[in-house]
Amino acid sequence: MAGLTCARELCLRGCDPVVFEASDRLGGRCSSRATPIGWFDDGAQCISGVTRLSAHAVQRPGELAALHAWTLATTPAEDERDGRKWRKDEDEADVTRTLKPMGAVGVPTMMALAHALARPLDVRLRTPVLQAQWRSEGWTLPGAAGAIDEAFEALVIAIPAPLALPLVRASPALTDALRGVRYRSRWVLLLGSERPVGLPGYREFQVGPIERIAAMHSKPGRHAGAPQRWFIEADARWSLRHEQDDAETVADLLLDNFRAHAGRPVTPNYLRAHRWRHAFVETPATTPWRTECLWDGDVRLGVCGDSVVASQVDRVHGSGIAMARAVAEGLTFRREGAVAGTLGSRSGQALAAQL
Ligand SMILES: Cc1cc2nc3c(=O)[nH]c(=O)nc-3n(C[C@H](O)[C@H](O)[C@H](O)COP(=O)(O)OP(=O)(O)OC[C@H]3O[C@@H](n4cnc5c(N)ncnc54)[C@H](O)[C@@H]3O)c2cc1C
Repeated sequence: MAGLTCARELCLRGCDPVVFEASDRLGGRCSSRATPIGWFDDGAQCISGVTRLSAHAVQRPGELAALHAWTLATTPAEDERDGRKWRKDEDEADVTRTLKPMGAVGVPTMMALAHALARPLDVRLRTPVLQAQWRSEGWTLPGAAGAIDEAFEALVIAIPAPLALPLVRASPALTDALRGVRYRSRWVLLLGSERPVGLPGYREFQVGPIERIAAMHSKPGRHAGAPQRWFIEADARWSLRHEQDDAETVADLLLDNFRAHAGRPVTPNYLRAHRWRHAFVETPATTPWRTECLWDGDVRLGVCGDSVVASQVDRVHGSGIAMARAVAEGLTFRREGAVAGTLGSRSGQALAAQL
């Protein structure tokens, strides 16, 4: 989301960016996975602070917007806690019940957000950037992806810091800023069930191993019929303890815990555990400023995404916007013969750090 946002903003500013994506799908940790029983959002489940993202998440005329509010009916326990009366004969699925806002989600999948952002862009899937070489005339990207023999005026890295470090060697300042960034891994389980599981569409748990669950059928724009599709996220500590386990073992353990929460038998017709290695940033980049992105004007190299801010979709979207502004201003100064090194202070805000 950070990289696509940055590229989209650069387009609006008259630049001609190219996005290189290692995977065969867009969206990174804010995406969705196709399975034999339908789509699962397998990373970010909902987005808070939607204001800036909604402006970018438009699709073609006549299509649904790619971002919609997600609301859920309150449970009897929540109503009781908030002092609302709960009638014994009331049906939990009754649409007249109080609705609580959960945030916003991509429609029909979280991946739709990335596709909406990418629509006007030159995106090259299955193209990992493995090396980046800086020469005074610009950047080239040699390496196993080999075919990238173009030269670029500037380079933006929008991937987790541990993967970014080999690509920012040309900038000692950026290397220093990223060296201390730490990520935590996270196990998630995708589960399908022909029979209703009987849990609310979204719930967070205080005690592990499961931290939260989200039902695809409770989100707008998804198929609501059987089979039900559940996203199950383990908590940080449990994920760390089971870092070395294989996916089958983890799937069985999380399934047992899910059954305990459901309080009834659950017979999955789809079960797949996945470990996100760089799931959430624990310690973001250390910089002398509070900043949303990093920019080294001497080598025209930038870094954005959750390595710099926090692991929230809206924050990385903001980081991408700030990055585009820094790059565009940096390139303009260069073309106009301005002295590199003044970007952070010229913008007057802590948007781009000139390190
Ligand atoms: C399980 C889980 C649940 C989450 N839930 C929420 C939530 O509910 N709400 C929320 O706001 N946030 C949530 N987050 C966090 C949020 O998804 C991330 O912080 C955000 O999506 C990160 O975006 P990004 O653009 O910085 O990085 P990424 O999404 O990691 O994007 C980086 C992209 O770069 C690609 N890439 C990597 N290396 C290379 C390379 N060498 N060359 C080319 N391409 C490369 C990757 O394939 C990826 O597509 C969740 C994250 C996880 C893992």
